[in-house]
Amino acid sequence: MIPLLDLHRQYTTIGAAIEERLLNVARSQRFVLGPETDRLEQSLAEYLSVRHAIAVSSGTDALLVSLMALGIGPRDEVIVPTFSFFATAGVVARVHAKPVFVDVEPRTLTLDVAATRKAITPRTRAIIPVHLYGQGAAMDELLTLANEAGIPIIEDAAQALGAYHRDGRRLGTIGHVGCYSFYPTKNLGAFGDAGLVVTNDDEIAHRIRIMRNHGMEPRYYHSVVGGNFRIDEFQAAVLNVKLAYLDQWNAARREHATLYRRLFCDRGLVGQAMELLDERYPNIPYTHIYHQFVVLVRDRDRLRSWLGARGIGTEVYYPVPFHRQECFRWLGYCAEDFPIAEDACARVLALPMFAELHREEITAVVEAITEFYTT
Ligand SMILES: *Cc1c(COP(=O)(O)O)cnc(C)c1O
Repeated sequence: MIPLLDLHRQYTTIGAAIEERLLNVARSQRFVLGPETDRLEQSLAEYLSVRHAIAVSSGTDALLVSLMALGIGPRDEVIVPTFSFFATAGVVARVHAKPVFVDVEPRTLTLDVAATRKAITPRTRAIIPVHLYGQGAAMDELLTLANEAGIPIIEDAAQALGAYHRDGRRLGTIGHVGCYSFYPTKNLGAFGDAGLVVTNDDEIAHRIRIMRNHGMEPRYYHSVVGGNFRIDEFQAAVLNVKLAYLDQWNAARREHATLYRRLFCDRGLVGQAMELLDERYPNIPYTHIYHQFVVLVRDRDRLRSWLGARGIGTEVYYPVPFHRQECFRWLGYCAEDFPIAEDACARVLALPMFAELHREEITAVVEAITEFYTT
C-alpha cells in the first residue's frame, strides 16, 4: 500500500508532543482565542515576515472574511481561475458578488495573465490567484495588472504555506491579503478546520480581526456585521507544535518531487504518455513546495484504476472546472472558453506526496506507471 497521504507517519514522530499540548489546553479550560492562538499568530507573522497574521476557522473562512473586509458585495465582480478547489469561487458567490472565471496557464495551471487582463471591467473589485499545488501564480505580472487597475489581490495560498516568491518573500504575503488553510490534509494540518489571513495593511487587518468575531468592538458593540470565524485553542496548539517542522517537511516534499521528475524522464514517459508541469522558477529553491505532485497523463481514469488495484493511492484535483459546476450554470459560461482548464480536468493526476514518503515507494509508483504504459 502506498497511500496518497499518510498522516499516521507524521503523528508517530510528533504525536507525544502534541498530546501533551492538547492536554494543557483541556486543563486550562480556555477554548477559543486564547494564549495558543496569540502565540500562533505571532509565530506565523514572524515565519511569513508579515505585519498581521489573523488565525481563523478555515481556509474558506479566511477567503470569505477577506472579501467581507474589503467590502465586496452585490454588483461587484471578482476574478478567479476556473480551475481550483471550490472555495475559491464559492466565497465570491457567498458575498453576493459575481465570480468571473478565467482560464489557467497550460504549464502551471495557475491563473492566466492575458485572460485576466481581458476579464477586468469597471466592476472588478478583486483578483484571487491560486498558488496551485504549492507554487505561485504569475504574481509579478498579476500585481502589475492589479496595481494599474487599482484592484486588490487576494492570494489563495491554501496549498502553498512556506513557499517563496522569486524575490525571497513568502507566497501569500505579496498581494494585499493572503489566505491559508490548515485543513488536516494541507502541508501544515490541524486536527480539524483552521485557517489564516495575513496582510501588511493595518486597516484591513483591523477589519478582519473584528469581523472574525461578529464585527464586535468593544464587547457587544457592532459597527459592522462579521461572523464567527474564530479558531479554537486545540487547533492552535497542534499548529504551534507542527510549525517548527514545516520547512523541513516542505524540503522533503521537494526532494520527493525531484526524484519523481528524474525517474519519469529516465523511463522515457515524459513527452509521450505523460507531461510534467513546469516549475515557474526552477533555479530558485522553494518557489514550489509540492503540496501535490500532479502530472498530466494519457488514459487517466484507466491508469488510476490500475494503480488503485495495486494499492497505490491517487486523486484528481480537480475533475470539474467552476464554469461547468451546476451551481454556477446561471453565469452562462461555456466550456469552449476554457480549453486549458478543460484539458487539465481530463488529464491531471496527483500521485502520493507527503514528507514521510520513502524513496522506494516513489520508485514503486514510477515502475507501476511505466508498466501500465508499456504493457
Ligand atoms: C483547501 C483549500 C481551500 C479551503 O480551505 P479549507 O480550510 O478547507 O476551508 C481554499 N482554496 C484552496 C486552493 C484549497 O486547496
